[in-house]
Amino acid sequence: MYRTKKVKVDKTPERDNLAHEAGRCYSKVVSLMRKVKKKKGFWLSQGAVQKYMRLRGYNLHSQTIQSIIQAYFDSLKSYFRVVKSNPDAKPPKRTPYYFKVRWIQHGISFKDGLVRLSNGKGNAPSVLKSDVKPAYVEMYFQRGCYYFSMVYEVQTPPKRKTGKAIAIDMGEIHPIVSHDGEETIIYNGREVRAIKQYLNKVKADIQSKMDRCKQRSNRWYRLKRIKTKILAKLNAQLKDAEHKITSRFISDCIKAKADTIVIGKLKGIRNRAKFSKKSNQKVHQWAFARLQSMICYKAAMAGLKVKFVSEAYTSQTCPQCGNRKKPTNRNYHCNPCGFEYHRDGVGAINLWNKVSGFILSPVVGAMASPIGVRFNPHLCKHG
Ligand SMILES: [Zn+2]
Repeated sequence: MYRTKKVKVDKTPERDNLAHEAGRCYSKVVSLMRKVKKKKGFWLSQGAVQKYMRLRGYNLHSQTIQSIIQAYFDSLKSYFRVVKSNPDAKPPKRTPYYFKVRWIQHGISFKDGLVRLSNGKGNAPSVLKSDVKPAYVEMYFQRGCYYFSMVYEVQTPPKRKTGKAIAIDMGEIHPIVSHDGEETIIYNGREVRAIKQYLNKVKADIQSKMDRCKQRSNRWYRLKRIKTKILAKLNAQLKDAEHKITSRFISDCIKAKADTIVIGKLKGIRNRAKFSKKSNQKVHQWAFARLQSMICYKAAMAGLKVKFVSEAYTSQTCPQCGNRKKPTNRNYHCNPCGFEYHRDGVGAINLWNKVSGFILSPVVGAMASPIGVRFNPHLCKHG
């Protein structure tokens, strides 16, 4: 299991040179491949490109050059994949001035709390502070600053064994609703929803302004810059809120002495998104996947298992009598038996029943109403 740590550093001429050197190296690979393809009609192999690049001097570590070549071949491979179905696809052709700089294995040395990133013989190394030796480091540029992203290998703790499972339903209104056989907890998503709605509104507002002015005019570029800036900020807020919710959920799982988290497969939702043209819905789907991946890695860090179970009919079935009915509002009401409960709670209860081997829930009759967990930016600790 890997964890990433990001370090923000200033923009300096040395770092600019380094990124430019990487850009030069990547651009050379692109132009070499294109030239050979044009003149001889075939694509060079990765080994041949590596041999060629070794002969040209770059002020970079040999493995940094290798990973740059790898990056090119990765995008070439995806081009080969795409071109099968789309004959208009183009092979990678961008020759950037700057490029990401990556260090692996021999390019990284660690001593006395300092990480030295080699930039080739005769060049000064990049130095960073760290507690342990990273397995992989990447330097990239973002909004006026350079970032070093350090990836560490982390030992996963032994798996917990308590025999208790917690099922969760990930809904649009509430990001997580959990059920552990007795208790139903609703993690309030108002904060997340408000940010999402504001994000969509800002995006639409600026886009409509951009549509009204001439494309690529000064004003158009200014609006585009503003859009990128605001969206980046709101996305960061969204991510932060999601981190807090998932961290709180995982710590609740540990408190409840659970060993397994059961998640409904979100397959159906993703399929539906393919047909919808609304971009705000896409934001939604993407956020779902992000929330899910956050739960997965945080669960692994805490020694919890994650199990995916088909979500089919879990939101429609009555946990008391098994009658199927599509809920029409936020509350699930079953006509034949009179069972009434929060809609998202029903999904989590049915999912829990599914993995626990019950067809109908044995405790529903005596079940308490769901407990709400409010989003509070100061109470939940991140990480
Ligand atoms: Zn019923």
